[in-house]
Amino acid sequence: MSDLTNETVKNIEVTLNSVDRALGRLREGTYRSCIVCGGEIEESILAGNPFSTTCKTHT
Ligand SMILES: [Zn+2]
Repeated sequence: MSDLTNETVKNIEVTLNSVDRALGRLREGTYRSCIVCGGEIEESILAGNPFSTTCKTHT
């Protein structure tokens, strides 16, 4: 039971980090920029994963 709780806490932390990073990118205006090539992240990618930091090519 405590393992499950640790796992849950870890998952929440990972999610929070993703949200935090996405918010930071939104603020900096780089939300839609791929961190690998700097190109625009496709709408379909962001629709599937709003926290994606890479374009289709670098997923
Ligand atoms: Zn890319």
